[in-house]
Amino acid sequence: MNKEQTQQIVNLLHEDYRDCKVQIIKSKSQFIKWKIVELVKLKSFAFIHRKYIWSHSKEVLSNEVAGSYNSKLKNIQVYQFSMLEDCKDLYTSLVLFHELRHHYQDKYGRLDRHDIEDDCNRFAWKMYDRYYAEIKNILEIN
Ligand SMILES: [Zn+2]
Repeated sequence: MNKEQTQQIVNLLHEDYRDCKVQIIKSKSQFIKWKIVELVKLKSFAFIHRKYIWSHSKEVLSNEVAGSYNSKLKNIQVYQFSMLEDCKDLYTSLVLFHELRHHYQDKYGRLDRHDIEDDCNRFAWKMYDRYYAEIKNILEIN
């Protein structure tokens, strides 16, 4: 999935979801590079944040996490290297919708609610089903 395709998929959603920076990370080395950039940007934050980044990075590099939303940097990362080759781009769309919903929750002060993951999963599947034909078209999948 290239930048243009990612933007086209984001644009399927309401404008509330379009103001978040999205990075599709294709390799572990690219992920490590971005984490270093992030650590530099976050250098003014407390040690606890850096400790969180470290434990989160370990999970990502073990392929345990498919995507994340960073409420400090207001950005989304989707980790394509953790996905099966066959359905990588379709799955990326689903993860993208999930993480964009976290951005929406953040925007409306809902990130501390207990049901945010259920809400994200519901939203992601709903959008995936609704725009399945458009997504396949954008990704040039038959
Ligand atoms: Zn989530």
